Amino acid sequence: MNIETPARERQPTKEIQMKVALISVDNHTIGIQTVATVVADAGSEPALFYLPSHLRNYPEAIEERIIQTLRGAAKEDERILIGFHLKEMSFSRSLQLAKTARKGFGNRAVLVAGGTHAASLREELLPYFDHAVVGSGEGIVPILQAMENGTTVPRLIRRPPSKFIYPLFRDAYVLDGSGQIVRARIRPLAHPQYKHRQSMEIMLEVGCSYACSFCEVAALREMFGKQYRILSSQPEQAIDIIREQIGLSPGIEYVYFFDEDFLLKSEKWIDTFVAGYASIGLPFFMFATPRSISKGRGKLSTLADVGLDTINMGVQTGSPRITRDLFGRKEDRAEIISVLGVLTSLYRDGRVTSPPMVDWIILNPYEKKEDVSQTIKLMQDMPLPFNAVMHCMSFFRGTPLYKKALTEGVIPPEYRFRYDLHDFLNRIRANEFGLDFTSRSNLEWLKYNTILAGMNGLHTIKGETRYYGGIVEKDLPRYLETEMTLEEILELAASLPNPMDGVLFPWEMEYARQ
Ligand code: SF4
Repeated sequence: MNIETPARERQPTKEIQMKVALISVDNHTIGIQTVATVVADAGSEPALFYLPSHLRNYPEAIEERIIQTLRGAAKEDERILIGFHLKEMSFSRSLQLAKTARKGFGNRAVLVAGGTHAASLREELLPYFDHAVVGSGEGIVPILQAMENGTTVPRLIRRPPSKFIYPLFRDAYVLDGSGQIVRARIRPLAHPQYKHRQSMEIMLEVGCSYACSFCEVAALREMFGKQYRILSSQPEQAIDIIREQIGLSPGIEYVYFFDEDFLLKSEKWIDTFVAGYASIGLPFFMFATPRSISKGRGKLSTLADVGLDTINMGVQTGSPRITRDLFGRKEDRAEIISVLGVLTSLYRDGRVTSPPMVDWIILNPYEKKEDVSQTIKLMQDMPLPFNAVMHCMSFFRGTPLYKKALTEGVIPPEYRFRYDLHDFLNRIRANEFGLDFTSRSNLEWLKYNTILAGMNGLHTIKGETRYYGGIVEKDLPRYLETEMTLEEILELAASLPNPMDGVLFPWEMEYARQ
């Protein structure tokens, strides 16, 4: 295991006095906070920009506000490195700001794109960005050195992550819920369960033991081969950071652990962490895989003693064919049901405060009606209660599944991520995959997926009624058995609870109304 001391506890090794602005245009900031540690270690003062939004592009007034703030971060004529954490889901906003920054700063700005998708988006990035850094955030250091020394470095820098880097927490420029840019430590985060409640987001380990074909982990594994590693923090230092941040921001209501699979850590790590976290007392959220829950029941029980609130587990589909052959996942139906039994018992016994969250992928053009039907059946058979969260199938460039879908003509070359992961309604209205709905089998596929979309939410029994998320038991057979036209399916979809309700920030709703 490779372990690194947090940036705030050590001295920079070399002074590179360069202005650096690091920008996140979506809900998550861990990527730029990690790079900020690297930049601070190199001797520069990183300015962090948290600019979350759900819109495809920032409205003009917001864009202007962002660029003005960015101008304030660097003196006239001073060179500045502006780094973006690129994600397919928020690519259009990053590109928008990069173009505007280039216009405003000219060649005194060095624009850097970071993140897994930067490698696969390379051709699209080159006209706007000077460099792309993939893998470890340490890839930014040679760029800073080149800026200082007047030398050159390759435009694409790939570095396999080799050690755990703690994120840097400090005051940032934050686009708040009202559309103003303020100085703050914490920022708005929209979450399906916690909505806009204040959180502290942190990762204490990077990497996953799975390699699902649709996920960026699979892209990184392909890119780095044997050099791909799972890297963990030291639990004592992790606790110190969490305690310090909560002390500085008393409004934090829960801790959001963004680790791909929190239960991959050793029992010893978990025991040390739990001993420290006991005095923190805030509820916390974490992700885990079915396999690690199967093997880590003792770890779960220990974590439940100190505030474990929600466990989020991906199941994705009930079709064994899709699980194994398309997604490359490990678990079968029996294991999923057994693991759900563990999680729901923890909830029913009052050991954790929220039912487990279970992620599913819907609107998958590789599935047939029979596959979707198996997913519905699996949900009917799973122990209760659980919260189902539906994600619409999205093909992210760089992932094995994107390449397969492109080669097989399932998506056209111009396919791009356009709609929020939860925005089922707009996706089906746009017929994203260009399916022929005069075909009865495609129409049945759409109807089954619409039913699945309606099963988003809490699966439970209240009084005499069994709820499948937004659908009650008595309606399910009727929906499944009734032959529907395209118009009737769209009508049904529009009548179901929309997971996008309540997601937008107040300034976004105001903008949408205009
Ligand atoms: S389990 Fe989750 S994080 Fe891990 S590869 Fe699959 S989708 Fe990605």
